This record gives sequence, structure tokens and C-alpha cells, in this order.
Amino acid sequence: MTETDRGSNLAINGERLWDSLMRMAEIGALPGGGCRRLGLTPEDSAGRALLVGWARENGYGVARDRIGNLFIRRPGTRPELAPVMMGSHLDTVVTGGRFDGVLGVLGGLEVLRTLDDAGIATERTLELVVWTNEEGARFAPGNAGAFAFAGKYTLEQALAHADADGTRIGDALEALHELGLEPVGGRPIEACFELHVEQGPYLERAGIPVGIVTGTYTVRYFNLTIAGEASHLAQPLTDRRDALVGMAEAILAIRRVGAAHGEQGRSNASWVKVFPNVRGTVAETVQMSCDVRHADPEVARAMAADLHASIEDASRRTGIAMTLDPFHQFGPVHFDAGLVDLLRRTARSRGHRCQDILTVAGHDAIALAPIAPTAMIFVPSAAGLSHNEREYTDPAACAAGTDVLLHAVLAKAGRD
Ligand SMILES: [Zn+2]
Repeated sequence: MTETDRGSNLAINGERLWDSLMRMAEIGALPGGGCRRLGLTPEDSAGRALLVGWARENGYGVARDRIGNLFIRRPGTRPELAPVMMGSHLDTVVTGGRFDGVLGVLGGLEVLRTLDDAGIATERTLELVVWTNEEGARFAPGNAGAFAFAGKYTLEQALAHADADGTRIGDALEALHELGLEPVGGRPIEACFELHVEQGPYLERAGIPVGIVTGTYTVRYFNLTIAGEASHLAQPLTDRRDALVGMAEAILAIRRVGAAHGEQGRSNASWVKVFPNVRGTVAETVQMSCDVRHADPEVARAMAADLHASIEDASRRTGIAMTLDPFHQFGPVHFDAGLVDLLRRTARSRGHRCQDILTVAGHDAIALAPIAPTAMIFVPSAAGLSHNEREYTDPAACAAGTDVLLHAVLAKAGRD
């Protein structure tokens, strides 16, 4: 059933949602008001434990799969039907905020609690999912749990992703007792929803409380290796091949690629590793992460070609070898047209102004889209800030997004 009006008097408890968000923010709290719960650290596990505690209080089922994805289940009256899923992540980046990922999880919890309060049973089982290692801040690339669930990585590949110290995801899951027994993916899902903060400025600028995410930018990540030559600082400048000078030229070249492609152009250099990284020695090698993004896949392809040409040019000018290798990519993803339309109609019928929007950032929903009807709801980020301790979405917007989630989930799950 896809109607949106039944159950329309039902309202989530915005105060309880906000309280839960603030309670979760106490775990891994940073002095500037943000959070640090890197994937599969004790802080990440403590965040999951808080959620599991809340789930058990309400009598929901709790299970983990073999990549550590956490499932909170509210059984339906017809368990033979495929479940309706909602979820996001609890892990954060190093300079994380209180809302990125967390809103999608605790918004989902609020949906379940609201149905309990109203004594509403659904035909389909509702599954609230916490996806493992969304951010990739510790184990790159991100979305390991969701991509493993969707079959893009084998379980063995996902478990083998290692952090900078060589610890594998599989080892970290075991050490934290987050490794579960359920098989990873391979089962039907009726619909999958992810509520998330926008992480950009467009909804706030437009004064619109709810974004209906129709799809994604096209994103291409690369590893850039810059090979110079170590030497003493006594070496004349003209005789050096300084990998850091190469890096400086490369970063500016990367920046120009995005700037040349208008408002929708993004090009980023976001991570570097310098060897040997000591005072007194010219740098021998630099490894970098860079990426290009655009709403138009053709333009994104052209930007990737520009990036290759610009790096070749920087290498020629500096006389320092630079190698650009593909790393990770996503998009364009088009979310399920039926669910997108349901979200639009739900937002309007609930009195929330909304507009269509594309996501520039990667999300778990992108991983899920190839295997299940999937869609996302965005709410505004103050000043477009995210991955920042000051990340903020006001209580009314958190409640509006969760309200749309509730009624869309109910439409798909069927009220018994
Ligand atoms: Zn996120």
C-alpha cells in the first residue's frame, strides 16, 4: 500500500527525539560541542550499546551480522513479508558533529517508539539498521557495512579493510564483541529509507525544512602518489626533487579542476601522508587522497580527465613523478522513483515544505540502492556545516524529517 493519509494524526515526539540525540552526543563528546566516535572504536561501540539499551527497554529484537551491521527489529504481524528498513550510522569523523548519521538512527528509533505509544502494529517487520564504518575515517573507504550487505564487497574483503596501524575491520569487530552471526545481506527488502542532515547549504539558503533526495552526484576518488627524493636541507633548491613542493602544486591543480566547473563542481584533496616527515630532510614521498564530483555524470567524467591532465602538467613542471590511481567511486545513483514520490507526497500532506535535492556526499543509502527500493530525506544543516563540531540542525527540522520518515515507513509497512 502506498497511500499517505492513513495514520496522518500520528505525530512523533520531537522532545524525546532531541533528548536521545543529546544523550548520544555525550559519547565521544569533544570540547567544541561535537563528537568523535571513529568506526569500531570503544566510543563507537558505546554509542551502539546505548541504542541497544533503548531497544531492549521497548522489547525490540537486536541482532548483528558478520560485518557488524546492527539490526533493531520491531516484528510485523506478517513476518513472511520482506521488512521495511530505515537506518544510517553512529560512527563519526575525527571532527564529527552530533547529527550526521545519528539523526537517521535515532529518528528511526523515534518512529518505532511512536508506533508503540500509539499501539500501532504494522504488517511488515520494521528494521532499524546501524551500518558499520560509514565514515571511513579510520578504515577507508567508508560504507563497508552497507556495501558488504549489498554485495559490492565480499565479506572477506570488507573484514580485511585495515586502518593506519594495520588493524583489520574483522579484528576490531571481534575485540569489541560487535561481530554477529547473521549472514550479510542476501535477503529481500521492501523499502529502505535514510534520514540524514544535508551537509551542505542549499536547504537552509532556500528556507526549506525537508529535502527529498532524488539521487547523487557522480564521485570519483583517486590515490595520488608523489615520488620525490630524500635529501639534506643543505642541498641547493635547484638540485632537489621535493615531494612536498610537488604536493603543493598538485593541490592547487586539483582545486582549479573543480573551480572550472561552476557551482556544482567539487574537487578535493583531503588526506596526505608524508614520508619521512622529519625536520631536516626533504620529503621523499607523499600519498594523497583526491576526488572530483559533479551532478552531471558527463561533466564528472570530463573533470576526471582534467584532473589527470593537470597532475601530468604539475609533474612535468616540477620534475617530480606523480601517479594517479582510481580508488573508490559512486554515482550517479537515482533513488527509487516510487519512494521518492511517496516522500514528496508525505511531506506535503504533513504540511512540510520540501524540494528535490541531490546528495553530494556518500551515504549508506547509496550502497543499498542497487539491491532494494531506496530513498533519502534531508534536513538542513546550519550554515551548511558538517564534519565539524558546530554541525547543527534545529529540533524542529529534526522533527520534520522524522515525521516524514514515520509516515513514509507506515505507508510501506502497512498498518495492521
Ligand atoms: Zn553521514
